[in-house]
Amino acid sequence: AYSRVNPTPPWVDDQSEYLGKKKTSSESSLEMVAWSSSCARLLGIEESSKESTRTISVLAGAEVTPSMKPYAQCYGGHQFGSWADQLGDGRVINLGEVVNGKGEKYEIQLKGAGKTPYSRSADGRAVMRSSVREFLCSEAMYHLGIPTTRALSLVATGAGVVRDQFYDGQVQVEPGAVVCRVAENFVRLGSFQLPAYRNDLDLLKKIANYTIDRSFPQFSSVTDDFDDEENRYVLFLREVISRTVKMIVKWQAVGFVHGVCNTDNFSVLGVTIDYGPYGFLDSYDPSYTPNTTDLPGRRYCYGRQPSIGLWNLTRFAEALVPLIGVRGAEAELERYQTLFVDETESSMQRKLGLLSWTSADDKLVQSFLDQMREDKLDYTNMWRALSSISTASKDEADDETVLKPLEWELKKVQEDDKRQKWVDWVRSYAARLSEDKDRDGNGWSEEERVTAMNKVNPKYILRNYLAQNAIEKAENGDYNELLKLLEVLQRPYDEQPENSIYTEEPPQWASRRGVCVNSCSS
Ligand code: AMP
Ligand code: MG
Ligand code: MG
Repeated sequence: AYSRVNPTPPWVDDQSEYLGKKKTSSESSLEMVAWSSSCARLLGIEESSKESTRTISVLAGAEVTPSMKPYAQCYGGHQFGSWADQLGDGRVINLGEVVNGKGEKYEIQLKGAGKTPYSRSADGRAVMRSSVREFLCSEAMYHLGIPTTRALSLVATGAGVVRDQFYDGQVQVEPGAVVCRVAENFVRLGSFQLPAYRNDLDLLKKIANYTIDRSFPQFSSVTDDFDDEENRYVLFLREVISRTVKMIVKWQAVGFVHGVCNTDNFSVLGVTIDYGPYGFLDSYDPSYTPNTTDLPGRRYCYGRQPSIGLWNLTRFAEALVPLIGVRGAEAELERYQTLFVDETESSMQRKLGLLSWTSADDKLVQSFLDQMREDKLDYTNMWRALSSISTASKDEADDETVLKPLEWELKKVQEDDKRQKWVDWVRSYAARLSEDKDRDGNGWSEEERVTAMNKVNPKYILRNYLAQNAIEKAENGDYNELLKLLEVLQRPYDEQPENSIYTEEPPQWASRRGVCVNSCSS
């Protein structure tokens, strides 16, 4: 599964057959579009590198330095519920690893730099729009505090890439780009499935041991004995399950919808990977899927992500059966449900600004969500507004004063009965806040609660129309909007009053047919 190849050398030539005219490769057509200083710091890479012609050339896949040992990594997976056998990685090449000042190891890879041995008939490229989406969301998710792969750079290749815009059936030449991705490793659930499906148990074991030694060293010294119920592979599976649960609960908390939760798009590290047709909830709707390929089935919609997580982990556990037995796999999977409920409760507790959790709080959350859905209110803005509700609202007689903290959203709600429901909800929430105490019997001051809540309910998320705005400009060579968005999304929990236009809900144009359409692989 781990073969070493050289990245396709100066790949601009490679495109000529698609474009029908000969081009000569030249590094001068490469352009550093965006650079994450935060990711560069993580790697211990100097900020000035982003100006270097050589760095740009390397990050475009046009040059390999002597210290690099590039390789492509194939894997399999279930796509939309069906086993698709070997399917990746046709457009990602690992350049090697970087060890930072703290001794932490990170793998560096290029997405869209050209063909690999696993590209089959595809071109190995990525277009600007999908690369902007991957770059921005990786960094946005990181700053939201959600486990994710990182993105160091986004380089425009200056060459055209041919793609079908499937919604109007037209073939288009789009600007090409390469994203440099960074993670502790890029091993996916599907990386284990492929050798398991091929009955290659030696390779399965090799990959398991490699992954454990590299990223789960706490299990390296544990026995690999099949008959031991707590062998290293069982502990590894347990850890993957626990990390995946935590990741999905965090997705749910901020309204992130991955869009293609195939088993090949789930990392064993429990980090979000492969940003394609993802989206964040605007108005709250559990059936929302940002992926047009996922319509009308909505397998990967917001509300189904928790159960898809279990489905994917079940396929992963099946792949590990030769190492842990059926009973071992089942016993670990049985923990998923409880873990999920526990994590969700503490997530909701934090979002509501509570120091304790009671059984009645489930209902408080459920009625909040139900009313938001019914009234089509913005998920992000509503959660953020909750911190403005004070305990005094429980005794406030005037209904309009009670609703004031939510008025920005509730101005959309005209019907008296609906507004009354919100008045009731705010009053019961305020009553709950006023009696809230931690285990030692201490409560929070209003100020402490506001601070805590604003650290978990973001003000700024990567709304689809914001990404689309940045993409349209980037496709025309104007990268300012993309850079501005990167800056705003690096502080998603801060008020940033000067940037509050980025909290606005989707404008009319965003819902027009063919705009903001996202599907698999582009
Ligand atoms: P995705 O649905 O985006 O997760 O893609 C699944 C797999 O399809 C990837 O892992 C790649 O190996 C392959 N793929 C997608 N786009 C391309 C491309 N342009 N060239 C080669 N392989 C691709
Ligand atoms: Mg993928
Ligand atoms: Mg993809």
